[in-house]
Amino acid sequence: MIDSTLREPLYRELERWRDAGRVARLWLRDDDAIEPTAALERLLGETRNYSIPLTLAVVPAFTGMPLAQRLADEAHVSVAVHGWAHHNHSGPDDKKQELGGSRLEETILGELYEGFLKLRDLYPARFLTMLVPPWNRIDKGLIPKLPALGFESLSTYGRAKGESPIAIVNSHVDLMDWHGTRGGRPIAELIGELVAELQDRFEGGNEPIGVLAHHLVHDAAAWDFLGELFEATAVHPAVEWVSATALVRDQMSTT
Ligand SMILES: [Zn+2]
Repeated sequence: MIDSTLREPLYRELERWRDAGRVARLWLRDDDAIEPTAALERLLGETRNYSIPLTLAVVPAFTGMPLAQRLADEAHVSVAVHGWAHHNHSGPDDKKQELGGSRLEETILGELYEGFLKLRDLYPARFLTMLVPPWNRIDKGLIPKLPALGFESLSTYGRAKGESPIAIVNSHVDLMDWHGTRGGRPIAELIGELVAELQDRFEGGNEPIGVLAHHLVHDAAAWDFLGELFEATAVHPAVEWVSATALVRDQMSTT
């Protein structure tokens, strides 16, 4: 179990929200699902137990009926389009990217459309018209083309900047240490980042705060953090865990 003093800054911040009569909106995105696995079962179980809506970014090219059947009765889950094949088309010295680079725009958009149709057909009751670019990267020039494919929202990483031709529902706190241990990041660091996001929203930022998970590569530290986070927030009066569906709807009605 994690030392509860690590959670203190989070509790203190949430108390401030509660005292002010305010409610922070959180949402959960988990990437890279293709098929049912033990790790996915754990994620589904924990989110179901705490009534946390879950957006699962599924890789269209390699997924099929087994995952669709497994998720059919998981009413708290929605499925977003995670690129096409999660292939990196960048050069060896560039940041990894599937959606952009030197490939023809038509090729990329064609793949995205194929992915959109495939997941829409596989998930009649769970499909969310959201694009989650692999590695959270997409060429800027592609974004205005997404609505014509049917996408109504885009989710990458970091606070949204400026005007967008599509609803933006981003993630902000990434559980994993991709460039170091490749395991879960230290809990104190994650709590600190979450508190910083909460402070920003308290001061007037109105973006919901997205927590980003990757169930397939979670180690004990990552699972511990998620468990602690759910425990601390699931029934806290100053926190509302919101589905991405509701967040997109909310954004489309106010713009
Ligand atoms: Zn991914």
